[in-house]
Amino acid sequence: MGQVMQGAGVSPGVGVGPVRTIAGAVPEPPAGSRHGGDADAERDSALAALEAVAADLEERGERAAAAGNTDGRDVLNAQALMARDPGLADGVRAKIVEGTAAARAVFEAFGVYREMLAGAGEYMAARVTDLDDIRDRAIARLLGLPVPGVPESGEPFVLVARDLAPADTAVLDPAQVVAFVTEEGGPTSHTAILARTMGVPAVVALPGATALSEGTRVLVDGAAGTVRPDPSEAEVATARAAAAARATALQESTGPGATGDGHAVPLLANIGGPKDVEAALANGAEGVGLYRTEFLFLDRAAPPSDEEQEEAYRKVLEAFPEGRVVVRTLDAGADKPLAFLPAPGDEPNPALGERGLRMMRRHPDVLASQLAALTRAAAGLSAKLQVMAPMVTDADEAAAFAAACREAGVAHPGVMIEVPAAALRARDLAPEVEFFSIGTNDLTQYACAADRQVGGLAHLQDPWQPAVLDLVAPAAGAGVPCGVCGEAAGDPALACVLVGLGVTSLSMSAPSLPLVRAALVRHTLEQCRAAAEAARAARTAEQAREAARTHLPGLADLGL
Ligand code: PEP
Ligand code: MG
Repeated sequence: MGQVMQGAGVSPGVGVGPVRTIAGAVPEPPAGSRHGGDADAERDSALAALEAVAADLEERGERAAAAGNTDGRDVLNAQALMARDPGLADGVRAKIVEGTAAARAVFEAFGVYREMLAGAGEYMAARVTDLDDIRDRAIARLLGLPVPGVPESGEPFVLVARDLAPADTAVLDPAQVVAFVTEEGGPTSHTAILARTMGVPAVVALPGATALSEGTRVLVDGAAGTVRPDPSEAEVATARAAAAARATALQESTGPGATGDGHAVPLLANIGGPKDVEAALANGAEGVGLYRTEFLFLDRAAPPSDEEQEEAYRKVLEAFPEGRVVVRTLDAGADKPLAFLPAPGDEPNPALGERGLRMMRRHPDVLASQLAALTRAAAGLSAKLQVMAPMVTDADEAAAFAAACREAGVAHPGVMIEVPAAALRARDLAPEVEFFSIGTNDLTQYACAADRQVGGLAHLQDPWQPAVLDLVAPAAGAGVPCGVCGEAAGDPALACVLVGLGVTSLSMSAPSLPLVRAALVRHTLEQCRAAAEAARAARTAEQAREAARTHLPGLADLGL
């Protein structure tokens, strides 16, 4: 029986099977490798390799779409576009003309893009993996090496990798892969998103994952985030029973969100655009609590047209005729850089720089046209449109945003509470707006001074930190409705604690909704309050978790 390994569970469920590690890394072609002198032939083979990679990615995309995974197809098509990037091809050509061998030229040309992306924030940095994957595929072709990818196996297996490339995950057969385990990656990595879409249990950010030997039988619990090598039959049976109990509870988890004694807590979905509406509805979202509009603007040199914006907003509003849709205005900068709205100069700390609403001070036209598009989109529809600004710090900023909303005809302005100053002085911000929504991801980053993009600080990026709970309390008690739309809302135990702190709605990625609904209905408001009090009285995040659980006995029914 092996020592249990702890990572981050990003897709629930239990999987047991032998480890299969993804085909090894493609070695870096040695620096200084030269071609034999025929630059034209060398260039043709380099460009042909890139084109073959692009075509293969598209073909995988079609296979993924045929299996119902249209998200996967979109990711792969985006990767194919990167492989065909004319700037990249120019870079390769230039290196080959200088005498560099094709494989090395590809490696170096990608290096330029890689550095740009790696330094450009969480969303972009997550794409470094995509870029490396394209590079390695092209180099493998040029050097006649096996193309990295998912191993063939005669039996279902647990797929282990340093990080998974979209090209691998999108074409995986869920019947063959019983779980994903990666050493790197976070809850927003492609591995996590696609694993949830496919319904395959997944644990990411597991130190030592790739040291697991090939063929070792492991038990993966995607809810607990654990991997147990060589599990006993009893351990497998217990984990399976807990997962089955959870699955039954989830099937029964329907209807509007409420505690067991009938205190309503609307459960809403976090979305990035109209394509996420289907999953939100399928999981019983009562509306949208966070529409991250920057997804409409990512990867573009120019902002979408007014009409394009309006249509993207209307589609979502139409999907919730009786609900609310909370749209967040552009949160550009730091971990969400937008090509057409660059941060000014060299900011040494982009997370503390011009991002979110701060950036709109220099671009009031961008904010005004977004608000106008929202007003037009909502005209004549019954859904309640609420619009909030990200990264608001004080009452003046809240007032300025509310004024911009009024001017554009947006009736229900609100602000995100994700800066500790705003949380502590929530009572000053409350009279300016109609509602708050707490962004616990950023609130935790700023409260604990732990950059959310730095993997090594994961222990401090924990919304269970009692200091974070202390910041939620004044925001939730400031006299305006106060939701939570950070990842914390999707943690079933923490969701109960947040309700106990006075939070009035919870918004999360759609797959988390059923478990949170099931957790809430198993507890009374009084139990949630007791859990909140106990968590705040604790000294550490770990102790806060444990203390809250003692007041939340219903979590055990859910195998939690
Ligand atoms: C947050 O900060 O908690 C939040 C919901 O916003 P984002 O993760 O998009 O910054
Ligand atoms: Mg945020």
